[in-house]
Amino acid sequence: MFSKEMYELGAHSSVIREIFEYAKKRTEVVGKENIFDFSIGNPSVPAPEIVNETIKKLVDTVPSTELHGYTSAVGDNSVREAIAGYLNKTYGTSFRKENFYMTVGAAASLTITLTALHEEGDEVIILAPFFPEYRVFAEKAGMKPVIVLSDEKTLLPDFAAIENAITEHTKAVIINSPNNPSGVVLDEECVKTLSALLEKKQKEFGKPIFIISDEPYRELVYGNVKVPFMTKYYDNTIVCYSFSKSLSLPGERIGYILVPDEAASSGELFKAVCGAGRALGYVCAPALFQFVIKECLGKTSDISVYEKNRDLLIKTAERLGFSCAKPDGAFYLFMKSPEKDAAAFCEKAKKYELLFVPSDSFGFPGYVRIAYCVSTEMIEKAIPAFEKLAKEYF
Ligand code: PLP
Repeated sequence: MFSKEMYELGAHSSVIREIFEYAKKRTEVVGKENIFDFSIGNPSVPAPEIVNETIKKLVDTVPSTELHGYTSAVGDNSVREAIAGYLNKTYGTSFRKENFYMTVGAAASLTITLTALHEEGDEVIILAPFFPEYRVFAEKAGMKPVIVLSDEKTLLPDFAAIENAITEHTKAVIINSPNNPSGVVLDEECVKTLSALLEKKQKEFGKPIFIISDEPYRELVYGNVKVPFMTKYYDNTIVCYSFSKSLSLPGERIGYILVPDEAASSGELFKAVCGAGRALGYVCAPALFQFVIKECLGKTSDISVYEKNRDLLIKTAERLGFSCAKPDGAFYLFMKSPEKDAAAFCEKAKKYELLFVPSDSFGFPGYVRIAYCVSTEMIEKAIPAFEKLAKEYF
């Protein structure tokens, strides 16, 4: 009568969503101020002023039929040109508008890219811990996900394990830096090592192996940390970008796919991206938000709030005896569960109204993800709950 596969996906929402829903119900019982919901990556910092100013300006000055009409499937030319110009100025690249396909956020960028790349028998390497939807997106695109655990100590890629996992069926490796859920950033040395490994394997198998670089947190880094721009290190890179987190616009659904000229058969690959977007029924990215982001390139929400939250949480967690991955970016703290079963730890945390996500669904058991895109005040209020929870273990 209907798809069992789709039923399963719809009937069992993600663990993150389940906890998010639990938080809503619990809020009704104990009140918003008494629940410490660290479950979801919904930016807590408002979009920068320029976003609303641009919306107002566009509504007042651009004819409605143009502002709200279809754009080309690939996106508006002036928008794509502006993105190319911005990236070229920032990273010293030489992209053209023809390299960009506008999408409804990173999720769509990923599903389109995976669908565009897919041929019978393909495998895609996913580095754990990973954003849980990767598995869903890969399988739906027909790719077999091959999960490779990161190094337990650093949570950086385990290159020997990646090398072992690459076969003649490997079509792509998905990377995500800064990472959800660990906050870890791949530094230049790491990116160079990965690139060299994949170059070697491409030669060995005589075929391209793509890096799909999922970059919704590209600008969310703290201190002097730099995120190397992947296309400068590895030709067969496809960038999946989103403005959801950098501009705090997750509900507006806007992002892009970048297929550089250097990528193998780049012109044809770009056409396959167009075909996948068409087959998946995306039509075009929202016109209004294409025009909005054109005026906001290089701007971000006030990420100093996230940095402050990160520092406060790490200081608190470590003072109490917990240990955490080094989160240089994004807005997640990956904290080691003091008991083997992270889900059991999360249940204990719930007693104190602390809501964390156990790491099993990120493919890396034994940790919890603490999303600190919340108000600093909430973290301050949650400290006594952290203290009570720590007393159960240390
Ligand atoms: N990739 C990662 C690593 C994410 O964390 C998210 C959202 O949280 C997405 C992709 C999807 O982002 P978007 O809202 O742009 O679809």
